Amino acid sequence: MKRAPGTVYLVGAGPGAPDLLTLRAADVLKRADVVFHDALVHPEVLALAARARKVAVGKRSGRYATAQQFINKRLVDAARVHRVVVRLKGGDPTLFGRAQEELAALAAAGVRCEIVPGVTAALAAAAEAGLSLTQRGLARSVVFVTPRVGKGEAPSDWAKSVAGADTAVIYMGAGEAASITAALLAAGAPPGLPVLVVENATLPQARRVALTLAELPRISAYDFEGPTVIMLGAVFAPALEAGLDSAGSRFCRSA
Ligand code: SAH
Repeated sequence: MKRAPGTVYLVGAGPGAPDLLTLRAADVLKRADVVFHDALVHPEVLALAARARKVAVGKRSGRYATAQQFINKRLVDAARVHRVVVRLKGGDPTLFGRAQEELAALAAAGVRCEIVPGVTAALAAAAEAGLSLTQRGLARSVVFVTPRVGKGEAPSDWAKSVAGADTAVIYMGAGEAASITAALLAAGAPPGLPVLVVENATLPQARRVALTLAELPRISAYDFEGPTVIMLGAVFAPALEAGLDSAGSRFCRSA
């Protein structure tokens, strides 16, 4: 008799610090037979999957890439021989994580799948800065957006969605600060708009830079190598006022 395929769990590993993993994610990892993980997942998180074979399939732009279709196939194949298969992704697995492609491939193969949410980079970066993305009186809307357009995808009007939101968090954009600035100014965003750039949020090597939108192209001088978010909006004014240009230590206005 053919045995029923296992379950694939798309699990959010959180933004970086291992203690931001959810209890549900930890439980699934403990039960995992095999874990396909992104390159940047913390070793302490991987260590929770004590019994599992660990396979790195990370896609860090310009570095090491495993074609998405190949990952999809490996997930399906793994579910045919294992009970608990984990696809571990940074932050939340559904945000800019190509989750839908993996979900579609699994559904087409008749493989059961569950999503375990994670703390996304935007929320972690805001928390560390001691700021609320929806501070009352200043912001009632938040947009998570990327200027990055995948192969074969229609171009997006990302700049318009940033200009139309009270608070915006740009993922995968730090390498293109100059063109992002130009696009946002052209979309009507004010040059004095407060911006907080955070690299490696929640990790000991985190760096934060506060500046105005007009000054944003200056961040190229920081040579961000780690994952970096660009956060824009009036709620980041306190970081700008504090002249925030820090490495390492946590920033909380009330502290
Ligand atoms: N699913 C992830 C995002 C994947 S796209 C999430 O929910 O967070 C990868 C982008 O996420 C990076 O280019 C960066 O913009 C952002 N990112 C991920 N981890 C980060 C961190 N610790 N600090 C700052 N930005 C981070």
